[in-house]
Amino acid sequence: MFPKRQKTTPVIAGLAITLFCGASGTPSPQTALQELKAGNQRYVSGHASHCNVDQKTRASLQSSQRPNAVVLSCSDSRLPPEQVFDQGLGDLFTIRVAGNVLNEDVIASIEYAVANLGSQLIVVMGHESCGAIKAALSKSTDHEAGSPNINHLTQEIRDNLGQFKSTDPLFQDAAKKNVSAVADQLIRRSKIVREGVKSGKLKIAQAYYSLDSGKVEFAD
Ligand SMILES: [Zn+2]
Repeated sequence: MFPKRQKTTPVIAGLAITLFCGASGTPSPQTALQELKAGNQRYVSGHASHCNVDQKTRASLQSSQRPNAVVLSCSDSRLPPEQVFDQGLGDLFTIRVAGNVLNEDVIASIEYAVANLGSQLIVVMGHESCGAIKAALSKSTDHEAGSPNINHLTQEIRDNLGQFKSTDPLFQDAAKKNVSAVADQLIRRSKIVREGVKSGKLKIAQAYYSLDSGKVEFAD
């Protein structure tokens, strides 16, 4: 469950913000999650490190990659995961699709990162005022969007939301519900993910991004 929404606590500039330029080796799920939380704190406070986006890092990654985390997020231009989490080259294996939904290709991409690149954390991230969620909630028939492809996407989100109804103009709870459904589906539809989570070597973190604050909220 996501924590109840609270007032944003102002961040004192520079206080308790640790400048961190990435860990060596593949971190545990918990360590990877802590690093993303710390990176988001830097981003929110205006003290992003912008580490590891230089020529030296680029060269060091020429022949291999060991991303610390997989991030499945919406394609929305306002929440690029590398910037939201203040991560550098090679840190995140990012998959972006409107409404952060699953299909076989998305699942295969996640499985590749887990099975072949060693990622031990999967973040599924929805966000405030998601256009895909809004479209899914506002269209009642399959033909209103004017495109079979968009219809397919909105129907998938509707299926994820089930009987969920919302009057929230920011679609916050709907986005969180969608993230929760996607995380559950990922367990069901991927043996690699399911076994990884069961063994404790892999974690799925549910996340929600606020456009106004830039803060990423994680469910328990
Ligand atoms: Zn969106």
